[in-house]
Amino acid sequence: MLKKILGCTIATAAIVFAVVVAEDKPQPKEPEKVELPAMKFDDVKEIAPGVFFRYSSISATDKTVPFGGSNNIWVVFKEYVVVIDANFPKEAGDVLEAIKKTTKLPVKYVFDTHHHGDHAWGNTVWAKAGAKVLGSTNCARLLKLNGPDEWKKEQDKKDGRKDIKENELKLVDESFDEKLVLDDGTQRIEFIHLGHAHTPGDAVAYLPKHKILCTGDACVNGSFNFMGHANSASWIKVMEKAEKLDVKMVCPGHGKVAAKDLLALQRRYFTDLRNEVQKGIDDKKKLDAITAGLEMNWYKEWTGKAAKENADNVKHVYDELMGKIDHSKLGFRDGPGGLTPTAVKSE
Ligand SMILES: [Zn+2]
Repeated sequence: MLKKILGCTIATAAIVFAVVVAEDKPQPKEPEKVELPAMKFDDVKEIAPGVFFRYSSISATDKTVPFGGSNNIWVVFKEYVVVIDANFPKEAGDVLEAIKKTTKLPVKYVFDTHHHGDHAWGNTVWAKAGAKVLGSTNCARLLKLNGPDEWKKEQDKKDGRKDIKENELKLVDESFDEKLVLDDGTQRIEFIHLGHAHTPGDAVAYLPKHKILCTGDACVNGSFNFMGHANSASWIKVMEKAEKLDVKMVCPGHGKVAAKDLLALQRRYFTDLRNEVQKGIDDKKKLDAITAGLEMNWYKEWTGKAAKENADNVKHVYDELMGKIDHSKLGFRDGPGGLTPTAVKSE
């Protein structure tokens, strides 16, 4: 489809910019059976030929588990490697070492699924290793706008991260509005901005040959949804779009690799949360009472944590439904260096 639209070949290692949105492909009736790898934290597994997944440590319930940043995926093309998510600088170094055990090829691109520190602050490490940083237009803007202040804040903290103190912020080199494709005939990655989900700049990495979807924090496997920059109504639509892709394995931003049905679980969380909070608002209940009354037992079965323990999420959804949040300004700011609300692609 891209070939026809652009009238050029993409067999070489060129980056192709396209203005098409995700294709609606017919879906198989039964979800494909998929064998999921059993993994311990920091393990690396080749989940498809030339596609590696590194499982980062995280727990929503056990405080003794150190936070290892985002999961990472790398794809070995004919002549180079593409890394999905930059992670923090320290972890980026760990991932780079892990990559070297799987291939001698250089890392040519790193893709930030969004602008948050655990997904984008390692850019500096990848750039020093010779890589170009890719990200959606809003990811690039949000990193440029928020990155310097947040980076400085971390540097100024007494107990701040050592890797931030010793490094500098690196921004996105090449950005795209809706879609960017890397294809060398052996591997293909489609980077797609499906809309405002976890942040206004979220984009996924879709590997159609392997039916693998790398979601960043637009989909996580566990109770790891931070909603500070989120649009829950749009997030549901983004999951619906993702579910239309021909996928058998989901590599989430945090938590274990999963089958496609993880996308539906993530969507159901926001659907149910919005419904229950709206019901509470209609019943004239206060936020605290709504939070305490949340049922959603299936959520605890999935994540090990009750939905009512996610007070920040409930408050965000409550504020959204009360009309207190202008999604076009989340993460953006007015004034010099800021952006106009129209710069945000949201729905
Ligand atoms: Zn995030």
